[in-house]
Amino acid sequence: MQLKLEAFTVDNIPLIKKGDELAAMICDNTEIQDNDIVVIASTIVSKSEGRTFTLDDIIPSQRALDIARKNGEDPRFIQAVLDRSRECLVESPILLVETLNGHVCIKAGIDDSNVEDGVLLELPTDPDASAKMIAHGIRKLTSKRVSVIITDTNGRSFKIGQTGVAVGLSNIAPIKNWCGEKDLFGKVLEITEEGVADEIAGTANLLMGEGDGGNPVVILRGLEMYVDSDVTIKETYRPDDMDVIRKGLRSL
Ligand code: GDP
Ligand code: MN
Ligand code: MN
Repeated sequence: MQLKLEAFTVDNIPLIKKGDELAAMICDNTEIQDNDIVVIASTIVSKSEGRTFTLDDIIPSQRALDIARKNGEDPRFIQAVLDRSRECLVESPILLVETLNGHVCIKAGIDDSNVEDGVLLELPTDPDASAKMIAHGIRKLTSKRVSVIITDTNGRSFKIGQTGVAVGLSNIAPIKNWCGEKDLFGKVLEITEEGVADEIAGTANLLMGEGDGGNPVVILRGLEMYVDSDVTIKETYRPDDMDVIRKGLRSL
């Protein structure tokens, strides 16, 4: 059977400001259908939630001063990252942390691109809740049941090239477990779990781009097999006791 996936941007999204209703903007500019996967750059979710800040009033700790000196960064910026982190996995030459929400990324996902000079954007505090709210908003406006994935661009260990990754979601299973299914030769798969939410984020990111394209929302149509309720991005975070890479980093 031929499988087919459609992906398209939602056009005419303005520069987002605090208080903007993303669900309404999306519904105004596209014909939503049931089971659409609405993929949204975290940047605009953060802007709409007012998650911007400046470095002006931040007083760096001694630790922030030490890391900043090693990394050639502003100590107030390092303090902002530490304030949003549960654990620091690598301090230098890159600051790799686990955010308060459990996402592991560089500099806690704090971003200065696609915002005004001098302003920084932090990730949504609870991206699953943000995704859920937008899915509800779209349901209210259109009576269509959609899935929402909120993305950010992250680097990858071992490989050059950043990709879109999921940082929050609603109504979509982030992982497809293939264990127990058979391969083409009848062998039973034993360990494969597919990172569906990140694959979708990466696909949508192909249309979003990283610069001035102005395409923060992408709809994927044709993935209804992954629609699910009662889900959280936290299903994708490897439990501490099973994480050999983290164990290795801690022993450095
Ligand atoms: P991130 O991956 O969430 O950090 O977001 P990016 O900064 O990479 O932006 C992703 C896409 O959204 C790019 O096409 C940007 O041009 C676009 N974008 C960012 N902010 C806005 C905005 O406020 N309005 C619109 N229309 N596009 C935006
Ligand atoms: Mn970002
Ligand atoms: Mn990006």
